Amino acid sequence: MPDFNLVAQPSASPTKCRFCGDFAGPMIDTRVDDPVYGRIYICAPTEQRTGCVGQIAQMCGLRSSADVDLLAAQVEDLQGRLDDLMRAKGTITLTWDEFIGLQRVLGENTAANGVGIFFDNVR
Ligand SMILES: [Zn+2]
Repeated sequence: MPDFNLVAQPSASPTKCRFCGDFAGPMIDTRVDDPVYGRIYICAPTEQRTGCVGQIAQMCGLRSSADVDLLAAQVEDLQGRLDDLMRAKGTITLTWDEFIGLQRVLGENTAANGVGIFFDNVR
């Protein structure tokens, strides 16, 4: 198995990514020296680029930590929305006038009619 190494900058000639030609590090140093080309580097992902390593990883089904963080935030948001829906299940939002009108229809003792009216966020 190759003994790859992550380096901040390529140091051996030609000091660039073998696939895209980018000179900026970080790079994976494959420690493979092609007799004609020289040392084979592959550019690593950064916040500014996916890099050839990142593209290869995505093709293999791997995700960056930024993608994982984004997915986790989306799951958290969806969980919050689901919690809101579960709390709102069986409740309705009424204006004060609508509430008074409903009370007239249902009578003063709404609990006797099997209807509970809760006063959360009455405006
Ligand atoms: Zn590259």
